[in-house]
Formats: sequence, structure tokens, C-alpha cells
Amino acid sequence: MTMPSVMRNYARYDVAFESGDGVWLTTTDGRRVLDFGAGIAVSALGHAHPRLVAALTEQAGKLWHTSNLYRVPGQERVADTLVAATFADSVMFCSTGLEANEAALKMARKVFHDAGQPERDRFVVTEGAFHGRSFASIAAGGNPKHMTGFGQPMDAFDRVAFGNLNETRQAVTERTCAVLLEPVQGEGGIRPPPDGYLQGLRAMCDEFGLLLILDEVQTGIGRTGALFAHQHAGITPDILTAAKGLGGGFPVGAVLATERCAAAFSPGVHGTTFGGNPLAMAVAEAVLSEVLAPGFLDRVRRVGADLGAGLGRLAADYPGVLDGARGLGLMWGLTCRVPNGDLIAACLDQDLLLVPAADNVARVLPPLIIDSAEVDTALERLRAACETLAI
Ligand SMILES: *Cc1c(COP(=O)(O)O)cnc(C)c1O
Repeated sequence: MTMPSVMRNYARYDVAFESGDGVWLTTTDGRRVLDFGAGIAVSALGHAHPRLVAALTEQAGKLWHTSNLYRVPGQERVADTLVAATFADSVMFCSTGLEANEAALKMARKVFHDAGQPERDRFVVTEGAFHGRSFASIAAGGNPKHMTGFGQPMDAFDRVAFGNLNETRQAVTERTCAVLLEPVQGEGGIRPPPDGYLQGLRAMCDEFGLLLILDEVQTGIGRTGALFAHQHAGITPDILTAAKGLGGGFPVGAVLATERCAAAFSPGVHGTTFGGNPLAMAVAEAVLSEVLAPGFLDRVRRVGADLGAGLGRLAADYPGVLDGARGLGLMWGLTCRVPNGDLIAACLDQDLLLVPAADNVARVLPPLIIDSAEVDTALERLRAACETLAI
């Protein structure tokens, strides 16, 4: 047999981890590795955070699952917290990012259906987007690598350049119901929005009566130094999706919506078996209470600015390896002049994890709890990696 028992749908690095502690991981052969990928922006509070371990184990001894046939008190507490901290009037829970996006797309169509405009069923989306791997979300993302081989894509998406307001206006038709985008593109290569872009989109959506859906699956839960990235722009969406950081490593997603949009999801319209189960809610409650604690997001912005400055210096020192650094908070991308995979492999040799992205970018996404000393250690290891690649 040449076929491994675990399917080969990932190109995995040949390394495995046995335990974690804060920003550090220990491999099965005993190496200590600095985790500046956080499992792709998931481990927001690092590994084995005492409050998360306590929340999960305490809940595990009480009750795991009851289904959404019944009230789930943890959902009510987490939803209350999200409503109090954001634009949202109401929250629905699911388990993953793509599920949240799938629900958001369904919700937007249903809003217009219920308003007597069922013909408004199309979405304006952006080039370089990533929204997940379901049929709807691969079509929304539009990445040929994710679509090839899967037949006729869902025909519901009109694509424009990220950051281009004029193109977006021109793509709107009488069939458009919503604009869907990431406020900072993640998989697309850490592309922050141009100044005024999100404000312009909000104004345009208001002008044409469209919904603004923000995919904050990667940018949310403090990653950019605000609870959600759109808050930097002083605007609010109509629907927002979250996942990755929300469970700090436990699978959980959420759809946040205004009253008008949430009303479209009346009983029976949409559902999921696992969404918002007591285990997921216990962890999400603990994550949010840490991230929303006074000073936490200030620290993310401060440490993030230091990290960004350090990455910029590195790019200046190794112009043959790096083109530059872009990002905000603790969401950074190194644009590479060597293949990004080479840099990431060289960093792994230095016991530092980074994450690849499109546009030849290496993502730097540490847990939000890192301190300055850990930033310095990561920068030293990155420097050593660049040294091995510089010619
Ligand atoms: C990771 C990601 C998704 C997909 O989340 P899954 O949990 O893998 O389904 C969707 N949107 C964005 C912006 C992401 O970064």
C-alpha cells in the first residue's frame, strides 16, 4: 500500500507537536519551537492557556452537548458579550469559518427575499479573497486553485479588485444584495484596506441599499488590535462572520448581525448540529473575557507596532530576501523576493513557525499574548533565516 491512511489533501511539513505552552510548541522529538503562526491565527491566547484549560475541563466534567433543540446558556452569555462589544443585535453560532460565511450569504439573500426582492441574489466580492472551501465559499473566493476539478461554480458572485471603490460601484446591478469582503485580506497575503476604502464601501452600500458583509474569520477577536478590524475604520457592517480566534483552538464560529438581518433567520430557516455547543461556548466565553479585559487590545497594538517595525528593519537589511512588511496589530505579512516557502522552511530550521499566503507572502501571526522578549527572539530567528537565504 502506498496510500497513507490520512488523506493527502494537505502538503504537510514533516514535523509534529506534542505539547504547547504559551507561544512555544514542543515537537514529538523534543525541539522547542516559537509559534508565530498560531495555527493560522487560531491560538489567540497561545497554547495551554490556564483560563482556557480550566474553562474547557470544567465544562467537560458537566455537559458536552445538548443540540440546538434546547436553550444553551453559554450561547446566551457569549452572544450577550458580542452584542455589547459590537454593532450586532444578535448572534448565531456554528463551528467553522466557512459555515459562518455560508450562513451569512444565505442570510443576505433571505433578507431581500423577505422584503419582496428575491431577484436580488448576487454578491460583489474581491480578487484575492478567501472565504472557505465549501461550494459557495470557493466560488466567493474565486481562487482557481480551490475551484478546479469541482465542476460548475455557484453563479452568484461578481468580482472586483480589492481596494477599488469605482470598480465596486460599477459591479453593482439591480440583482446585487450584498458586498462581501475581508477588511484585511488574510490568505490573499495580508493586504490591509486602503485609507477610506471601508468607509467608502459602507457609504456605497447605504446609497444602493446593499448589505455589507465582513468576513472577519481571520481578522477578528483582537488580531488587528481591535476586537474586529472594521472598528479601526469607524464603520459597522450589517453581517459579520468570525471563527478562527474565537475558540482559541476549539472549533467555533459565529455570525453577528443587525436586527434587520438577524430577523431573516426565523425558526427552522438555518441550523447546525454542533454550532455553539457547551464546550465551544465555555472556551469562547473565556477567550472573549481575556481579549476584552482592560489593556489587552492596547498591548496587542503596542507589541504589534514593535513587531511591524522589526519586520520592516529586517526587510531593509535583507533586500535580496524580503521586499517589505505589511499589516497591523499582530497580523503581518512579509512579502518575499525568494519563494515564500523557502523563507518559511528556513525559519522552521531556526525553530520558528510562519504561515504561507498568496502573493508570495509569509504570514507572521503570533498568539496575541506574546511579549516583547518573544518578539525579539522571533526577529533574531528570522534574521538568522534571512542570513541563510541571502546571497
Ligand atoms: C480561514 C478562513 C475562512 C475559512 O475558515 P474555516 O474554518 O477553515 O472554514 C474563511 N474566511 C477567512 C477570511 C479565513 O481566513
